Order: sequence, then structure tokens, then C-alpha cells
Amino acid sequence: MSDIKMINLKINGIDVTVPAGTTILEAAKVAGINIPTLCYMKGINEIGACRICVVEVKGARSMVAACVYPVSEGMEVTTNSDKVIAARKTTLELLLSDHRKDCLSCERNLNCELQKLSNEYGCNAYRFRGVSSKTDAPDTTTDYLVRDNTKCILCRRCVATCNKVQTVAVIGANERGFKTNINCAFEENLENSPCVACGQCINVCPTGALHERYEINDVKKALADPEKTVIVAAAPAVRAALGEEFGNPIGTNVEGKMVTALRRIGFDKVFDVNFGADMTIIEESNEFINRVKNGGTLPMITSCSPGWVRYMEFYYPDLIPNFSTCKSPQQMFGALCKTYWAEKNGVDPKNIFVVTIMPCVAKKAEKLRDHQNASGYPDIDAVLTTRELAKLIKEKGIMFNDLPEGELDNPMGEFSGAGVIFGASGGVMEAALRTAVEKLTGEELKKPDFTEIRGMEGVKEAVYDVAGMKVKVAVASGLSNAKKICDLIRNGKADYQFVEIMCCPGGCINGGGQPILDAYTRRNVDYKTLRAGALYSEDSKKALRKSHDNPVIKDVYDYLGEIGGHKAHKILHTEYVVRKKY
Ligand code: SF4
Ligand code: SF4
Ligand code: SF4
Repeated sequence: MSDIKMINLKINGIDVTVPAGTTILEAAKVAGINIPTLCYMKGINEIGACRICVVEVKGARSMVAACVYPVSEGMEVTTNSDKVIAARKTTLELLLSDHRKDCLSCERNLNCELQKLSNEYGCNAYRFRGVSSKTDAPDTTTDYLVRDNTKCILCRRCVATCNKVQTVAVIGANERGFKTNINCAFEENLENSPCVACGQCINVCPTGALHERYEINDVKKALADPEKTVIVAAAPAVRAALGEEFGNPIGTNVEGKMVTALRRIGFDKVFDVNFGADMTIIEESNEFINRVKNGGTLPMITSCSPGWVRYMEFYYPDLIPNFSTCKSPQQMFGALCKTYWAEKNGVDPKNIFVVTIMPCVAKKAEKLRDHQNASGYPDIDAVLTTRELAKLIKEKGIMFNDLPEGELDNPMGEFSGAGVIFGASGGVMEAALRTAVEKLTGEELKKPDFTEIRGMEGVKEAVYDVAGMKVKVAVASGLSNAKKICDLIRNGKADYQFVEIMCCPGGCINGGGQPILDAYTRRNVDYKTLRAGALYSEDSKKALRKSHDNPVIKDVYDYLGEIGGHKAHKILHTEYVVRKKY
């Protein structure tokens, strides 16, 4: 018999029985009653600060915040009385009193939790006129993110995410009272902070206070330039989430429609970053095998997540020797467009403009790093997030859901299932193992699935027998989990040979550039598993499931020479820097 104590209470007259310790908010959900929230994020930001979730509890002297108030035996709760509704409405009207209310042109129009609640509660947005002490000038100092405090409601969801999920903690509340504002310490701008560019703060913000730095106009300018050959390619995780922007269920793979939309926008070539992922595996698995055979630095750590790379450079620069020197799939893809593809097609790389569609905000910063210009020109010219692509599709009047399925161009639209799964935590490791195991054993892998390292746990470990050798691997996603692995390695307590780390929890499918889901969906739907499922399903249906089986790879190495050789190194590998923490 379970020894969990059960509590009986009534919510709006409905009998509910829940385990002790449950909050009123969670108990209400069991009773089929929704209580609105704004600041609340389960397990991350449970501060009861915004007071939108207030409810009446019989016998209590004042209304209580349902998100943090625990149930008790015999409790009687009312969530929808006139008094409760009036209190919530007043709170919203106070929030709106110093809010820059330009919904029509706001990036979050129709996807804003403040706007939705204000509408539901019939708020008079101008009942109170607050004198805003928030700065009018957004922080536009970085190449990837814009912070606009005139839209900030001080919910602190971004602060908690940066601090607890990513353990970066570069933003917090400055000043007090009316002057409170969310910023870096000492009112410093984001550029002068050790922000890793993950964009996770954007994804959790309920309003339009945070967004990526837009590059849509750069892309439009290139498309209008007759001199330019404009190439586009999307990362694996984009196809698993773009459909959400057009009302499709979470986890719908819209690869074919996305290809057609990209063609209709006017791109000259529609390739795929999955091809770059296959290339990464060829170089990375070769690097791993060399380290294992020649006593190189182990564990080798993957380097395809640019937020993670920045984190390592800021916080664990002593691990630089462990890092794979491979560029990320995005950068390998761009480098090959302007070298291999340019030469093959007789196009001057200076006239090639490469656009990638990314689930990520850090990719915008990555393209500007040193050593990312193999042809003498930037490997990548513009990066659009999944959200920016959706905006562009809508602006062009393309009826996405009615589009026919399109086919990618060759040769760099060819990819294996291993390339597809890069978008989910564990996918890079699985893809690398599919190739490394075959190379080390010299035998064909009958079953290329390494299911032990799939799933959404923050840290996963597995040990494989490969050619008489024990290979212990670790996979971590989200920087708080990465930190655990890094500390083990730093302190000499890790016995891994190979480590995959992704900056965002769950991997790229949950990147900072993906469609924004409201707090209710984020806590009640396993959206990461659904998005990852779309990628694993595509992988399982592919005839080619290993990167080294991609037929275009051979042609690329006819151009590059030896895997890991001089030319491959010059085009496909990179260097890291020790960053100052300020
Ligand atoms: S943040 Fe929300 S309420 Fe504010 S302007 Fe934008 S859409 Fe409107
Ligand atoms: S981008 Fe990431 S590191 Fe930077 S402020 Fe946002 S959550 Fe923090
Ligand atoms: S920036 Fe967004 S998430 Fe952060 S405190 Fe303001 S409203 Fe909340």
C-alpha cells in the first residue's frame, strides 16, 4: 500500500483528492479547472510574484497564489468568483499601465500571454497610467538577441531559466520598486556579459520583451540581387517544429512543405544542413578514432552546439583540448557550398550567399566567429530562426499547409538518417557511433539504433563493446547538465571516452529559435519528445541511416582528399578561444 498521504478538498464545489504537497494550481488541473499564470514555471520559477493565479480559500484572510499554495485537508477553494476575477483584472491593468502597448506591430502579437489574458479578462489597457521608469532603448548590442524592457512585466521567467536551467546567470533584477528592471549586473549590456547566446530566455518570455536579432532583410536583399546565387538549407530540428507556426500538431514533420516554401520564396538552391551533419560525422568519428588509437585527449567532446561552445570558452576553457576541432554542421555546410560546390559549378564564392534556417539563436553569433571563412568569404551569410522563416512565409502569402511536398536539390540535399537525428539530444552521439563502430570493427552494423542514449533525460550514459574495447559515452543537454559532466572531467573523475553536449535542454528541437509555446503547453505537453519523435521517425524510414553511406560524401572527398587531411582541416575544422568572464 502506498504511504503517500492523500488530501481531500473542494475546488469550485468539485471534490478532488491529490497527494499532500500538491499546489492548488495542480489540484485544480486534476479537477479540470484552469487557473491562469504568468510568472510560474514548474520547478524553475515558483515565486508567486505576479498574483495572476490568486484564488479564494475559505477561512484565509486574503487571496492566495495558487501556484505556490499547498492543498490541505478539507480546504475549500474558489477560483472564479467575481472577487477573484476583479483582482486578476486589476493586476493585469497595473501591468499594462507602464507597458508599451504596440500589439499590432509586436513580434508576439497573437502569441503573447499578457495580451491573451488581458483579452480574456476584458482589461482596460489605459485605466492606470504609470510613468514608466524602464529604459526606452532596447539592448541591441549582441548579434543574436534584442532585449526590450518596455515590454517586460518582471515575471523573471528569463532570469530563472538563465540561472537554473542554463547556470549562466547573466541577467537579474536591478534596482527596486518602480525602478526594478531586468538587466545584466551594473546595468551592463548583454554584449559585455558572459551570455552564451542560447536564446532560452526568449522561449520562456510571456511577452515581446525578448526576441532574436532579425536577419530577414539581409536575406531579402540577397534574393533581390541578380549577381547572387542564394543557397538555403535548414537544420534537422526546423522541420520538426516549423509546422506549429501554421497550426499543425507538435511533432509534425513538414520537411516537404518547407522545401516547397523555400523555393517559392525564391532561393536558387534548396539544400539541407543534414548534409553538413553527415560531413561532421565523417570528420568527427575519424578524429575520435585517431584519439583512441594514438593516445589523444579523451574524452572527446562534441562541438556542434554554438551556445555550448561559448559556455565552454567562458566557463571551462581548460577543456579546450577535449573539444572536437570539427566545425558545426552549419559551418561545414557553408564552407563546402563556397569551396566544393562553387568549384564544381563554376560559381565565384564571392557571389554565393548562404542562408541557413536554424532552431537556434547562437548560430547567428557562430557565423561571425573567427576561422569561419574557408573560401575567403564567410561560410554563412545569414541565419534565420524557425520563427523568422515562418514570418517570411506568411509575409510572402504562401499558404503553407496547402503546399505540395518538395524535393531537395542535389548534391548537398542528400543526407542519411544519422544526419536527421542530430536535432535531438543523443543524436550526434548515435550518428557518430554508427560510423565509428563500423570503422573500428570493420563490420557492418546490423542494427544502427543506439536507443540507450535517446530520450529527454538531462544526462545519459552508456557503455558499448567496440572491437574488444569498452567505450563509455555520456550525453548531456541543457547547460546545468553540461556543468555536471564538465566538473567530472575537470576533476579527473570522468571515465568517458566520448561526450555529446547540447546547449539547449533536449537538444536543438528545443532551441532558442524554435516556435514559442506558452507556459501551459510547456508544462503540460511533452513537446520535446514529440518534436524528437518526428526526427527519429524520419531516420527509421530512411534507406541510408549512416553518414558514411551518403553517396555524395565520396564525391566531396574526391575534392577534399583524405578524411581529416590537410585540405579537410583547412575547410572543415576550427579553433577555440579563452573568453573573458567580465
Ligand atoms: S508584449 Fe504582448 S501585450 Fe505587449 S505589445 Fe506585445 S503583444 Fe501586446
Ligand atoms: S541567451 Fe541564454 S545565457 Fe544569454 S541571457 Fe538568455 S538565457 Fe541567459
Ligand atoms: S524579459 Fe520577459 S521573461 Fe524576462 S522578466 Fe521580462 S517579461 Fe518576464
